[in-house]
Amino acid sequence: MFVPLTILDFMRRAEQVYGDRVGVFDEPQQPASSLGALTYGKLARLARAQAAGLDALGVGFGERVAIVSHNAARMLVSFFGVAAHGRALVPINFRLSPAEIAYIVEHSGASLLLVDPELDAALAEVKCAGRFVLGAETDPLLFRHDATPANWQADENATATINYTSGTTARPKGVQLTHRNLWINATTFALHTAVTDRDVYLHTLPMFHCNGWGMPFALAGLGAVQHVLRKIDGTEILRRVQAHGVTLMCGAPAVYNAILAAAQQWQGPIPGRGKVRVVCAGAPPPTRTIERVEAELGWEFMQIYGLTETSPLLTINRTRAEWDELPAHERAEKLGRAGAPALGTEIEVDAQGEVLARGNTVLEGYWQEPAATATALADGWFHTGDGGLVDPEGHLVISDRKKDVIISGGENVSSIEVEDALCSHPAVAEAAVIGVPDDKWGETVKALVVLALGQSATEAELIAHCRQRLAHYKCPTSVELRTELARTSTGKLQKFKLRVPYWAGRTRQVN
Ligand code: ATP
Repeated sequence: MFVPLTILDFMRRAEQVYGDRVGVFDEPQQPASSLGALTYGKLARLARAQAAGLDALGVGFGERVAIVSHNAARMLVSFFGVAAHGRALVPINFRLSPAEIAYIVEHSGASLLLVDPELDAALAEVKCAGRFVLGAETDPLLFRHDATPANWQADENATATINYTSGTTARPKGVQLTHRNLWINATTFALHTAVTDRDVYLHTLPMFHCNGWGMPFALAGLGAVQHVLRKIDGTEILRRVQAHGVTLMCGAPAVYNAILAAAQQWQGPIPGRGKVRVVCAGAPPPTRTIERVEAELGWEFMQIYGLTETSPLLTINRTRAEWDELPAHERAEKLGRAGAPALGTEIEVDAQGEVLARGNTVLEGYWQEPAATATALADGWFHTGDGGLVDPEGHLVISDRKKDVIISGGENVSSIEVEDALCSHPAVAEAAVIGVPDDKWGETVKALVVLALGQSATEAELIAHCRQRLAHYKCPTSVELRTELARTSTGKLQKFKLRVPYWAGRTRQVN
């Protein structure tokens, strides 16, 4: 007999093996709505009480339950409570507008909406058949502490979550991931990043995002301790590393840049030196960021590449024994690649240079979007929309998102490559490179740059810096200094938004 590979399996093991361990610490800065410190046994009991409550409310197999919340322990309770009995969770980005949230609730056909008490008033206009404010686990309708759930298990092929993409390309699509997808993503992730019950994890990613909720499953099953963090703040992250002995975190490059900036003001030795390993995901990290994380923080840097559609893990790059003797910059360049396929995953690059993937973490489909599903999964491969190549060491190198490649005078320019060159200048904290219309070349390369605190650099100097490193046609023809750059809640650059003012009234050609 097989045991179904479901996310409930992680909860079962957490309760059986680590039931007495205080495994979850809720955000301490929100005492009013905090669940405080929870043992894995208590977490399991709360999740079961919620599962029984949902049963009693008549929310059955296959029904969708939407949740909008800041990072909080109650999210973990609902991940497991909703999943029981084959219900699907729809985690929604709390930063979206009420109209955008209403679209997702309606499109997913959710029967119930669970709302963070702090967001309840702002989301009053979001309608759903049923609605609960997730303030207290004592709500007798949502939490039946006296009852047993009808089914504390699910089919491994049932949809566990429908996660809406951020809609950087078109209107958001609901990515359907099965329990099997999530189980394999979590265990593979844990295996490649070597999670054990000695790990202390800090939730630096928003928990509604697949990067944020992939990890908690494995952490629970393996008995690691999790600390909830609600807001990205470099100094606060360093404080938590010091106070709680954090050993592991995941974040986009922007998170590590924030920590590096805070580290420059930090009094005393940097906490976690030689003990913390960080997983960078969601966007390409500049080589200089990698080098600085290793040198200035003394934290091990790993990189993963993936998409919401792939649960997200596709490839991982973790330092190899052969690289130990390399000079720091060369090592950082090697770690700057997206990495080798994770176990159970295959990667290919097609004749047009698009990265294709297949494996156990690839989505079941887009919710109620058969045409988009057929296009994304054509020919038995998932089409990522990213351009790349596989280098002789078997590592995937992402050249750019297809839609961010700049076509200048018929030549393709990778915005990522130019950003990396700009970020190697010591005065540059962040850079976004976009294509803007140009009468002669069709598009020309423009850089939007945020300077590091107290640093200065002129446009001419930054262009000259790029010219020493890149072919002339790739170099920015203009540089604009900004105080910040538009980013998603996971810290990714929103280049489509940055392009808008330059393309007013014109249509941009994409490869
Ligand atoms: P949308 O799909 O709506 O545009 P999104 O950007 O939020 O939204 P995600 O699934 O979160 O979608 O992001 C996946 C994309 O992030 C990948 O296709 C890739 O472009 C980028 N990405 C993720 N990890 C890496 C990495 N390690 N290196 C380079 N790019 C990465």
